[in-house]
Amino acid sequence: MNRPQTILVIDDDPMIHKLLPVRLKELNVQLLHAQDGEEGLAMANAHTPDLILLDVMMPRLDGFEVCRQLQHGVRTREVPVIFLTGSDNANEMSRGFELGAMDYVTKPFNANELRARVRSALRLQALVAALETQAKTDALTGLPNRSAFKHRLQRVFDRSRSQGTSFALVFIDLDRFKHVNDSLGHAAGDRLLVQVADVLQHEVAAAAKAAGRLASDFIARMGGDEFVVIVDSNEDVHTLMALGERLRAALGVGFPIDGHHVHVGARLGIRICSDWDATPEDLVRDSDTAMYAAKEQGKGRCVLFTEQMHLDARERVRIEEELQVALSNGQLWVAYQPIVDINTAQIAGFEALMRWHHPQRGNIVPDQFIPIAEESGLVVPIGRWVLEESCRQFVAWREQGLISDAQHISVNLSKAQIMHPDIEAHIVVACETAGLPFGQLHLEVTESVIMHEVNYIVQVLNRLRALGICISMDDFGTGYSSLASLHRFPIDTLKIDRQFTETIANSRQYAAVIQAIIMLADNLGMRVVAEGIESSEQLTLLQALSCGFGQGYHLGRPTTAEATTQLLRDHKDACCNHGTGVLIPIETAPGVWGERNGAVA
Ligand code: C2E
Ligand code: CA
Ligand code: CA
Repeated sequence: MNRPQTILVIDDDPMIHKLLPVRLKELNVQLLHAQDGEEGLAMANAHTPDLILLDVMMPRLDGFEVCRQLQHGVRTREVPVIFLTGSDNANEMSRGFELGAMDYVTKPFNANELRARVRSALRLQALVAALETQAKTDALTGLPNRSAFKHRLQRVFDRSRSQGTSFALVFIDLDRFKHVNDSLGHAAGDRLLVQVADVLQHEVAAAAKAAGRLASDFIARMGGDEFVVIVDSNEDVHTLMALGERLRAALGVGFPIDGHHVHVGARLGIRICSDWDATPEDLVRDSDTAMYAAKEQGKGRCVLFTEQMHLDARERVRIEEELQVALSNGQLWVAYQPIVDINTAQIAGFEALMRWHHPQRGNIVPDQFIPIAEESGLVVPIGRWVLEESCRQFVAWREQGLISDAQHISVNLSKAQIMHPDIEAHIVVACETAGLPFGQLHLEVTESVIMHEVNYIVQVLNRLRALGICISMDDFGTGYSSLASLHRFPIDTLKIDRQFTETIANSRQYAAVIQAIIMLADNLGMRVVAEGIESSEQLTLLQALSCGFGQGYHLGRPTTAEATTQLLRDHKDACCNHGTGVLIPIETAPGVWGERNGAVA
């Protein structure tokens, strides 16, 4: 500590003020002088000294009263007090200690004793201050930590509210930090965080300078790879977004770590604070919500908080809570959509699609709740239930003679499910409990999920295939895998995403792409299912391109188990009556399929 410590002397005796500078000279302290209790309190508040030497006997406010008031002041209650007493009066001393005094010295002073007591009080105070700083500092980066941020936020909040000014919070979350930790080790991750902290400090200061304001902005590390900036001035949206973009760009450049050039990137959420209905905690939550929205919009974004985000976030929480009970209350059900061999028009199998019958909102489609279930981990028990229920239903159809050994049931697996350590056990139990041969189960995993953790997921898929289960790559064409690397994946079926099917009739180029996919899949021994076939025109084109299988509203909408039972019966009858073996009358007005079966999309 370089700055000399300050001692405030409060005494009505002028001699003391003359004497103390001499007595304490060798301690290298700065003395402040107050001639009575009132002046002493004012100075203590204004300067927050490191120690107060307080006379007991003073006119008007005596030392005890001053001590009591110091104990109540926000800025003074941590300052140690040594009483200067005229006598060795035990009563006086114990009263002083009760009021929070740390020590006492009797007048007339013994110079050595005085110095020793003052020195030890100052040492203790320095230690306490150092501990406090440590408790407010992030040890790794040296930035203020979460607790310091909370204090600062409250201060800025109170001041802005009383002055009617605004300020902003910028939340920053690194994109690929976990990846750096996993691949280069934690020490490298630490070095990265230190560099990130430096970049943030540099950029925030530079931005403040460019905007011509005092650099009173505050940067803290909230923990992990999360940082926050308090922009403590009335800035408009434009300036704040520019700051966000500046930080994003600076973090996107990459960092030299252990001879590697590491790219992380960041997403940012900004909350402008100018309404005083919100609490500081609300503001933190809102900037986090904006950061979350930035995450949803893809890597490397900077997003400004809007009230709508708050409503959306509340809605998500509500859905999550309701979903918790949906499973146990039997509100979930499975819809089945036929997957059709488009050359023979036979039903090759069904895809099981989850539905939620909400007591107030009616049927809710998966896009509205699966992402939420995914995030909360609820998708694991829910997905497991879908798996067990659809296996059970499929075997029931088989036992009724409506399904042959050649047909399959396709069940979707989410990312959280496939990453779950017990996923194989869940699948084996579902098949064995239902009595479904592994060979009749197809599991659909989207291309982007497979690409997410390629090495790990490929191992899981290999083990599942070893059991005889077939794997479909779902939504193919929307993820990141290239056609050239397709052979690396242990998959039996490619499901071409609906987007491609949609465009096939409009553009020759797309038709050529689909044809290339079909040819390649054929070479690799994979089946191809075109998703989202909605018109006979699309169907005819896909047939011409030798696409093996199709799925879509034109061939049959997802519908209830009961309606599907009826569908299977009708087709069995049609098949027996005409002896054609053709189950789906593709040529004959296939569009009526959905309506006839009371379809639920
Ligand atoms: P997906 O796996 O790609 O499923 C196909 C989606 O396309 C289904 O939407 C289906 O109803 C819809 N669809 C089928 N034919 C057509 C068509 O001709 N036109 C159009 N516009 N859409 C068609 P759905 O049932 O709303 O499911 C959406 C997504 O939710 C699914 O996409 C799947 O990723 C997910 N999902 C559904 N059920 C489950 C489940 O049990 N577990 C998991 N993890 N995900 C599920
Ligand atoms: Ca699917
Ligand atoms: Ca799909």
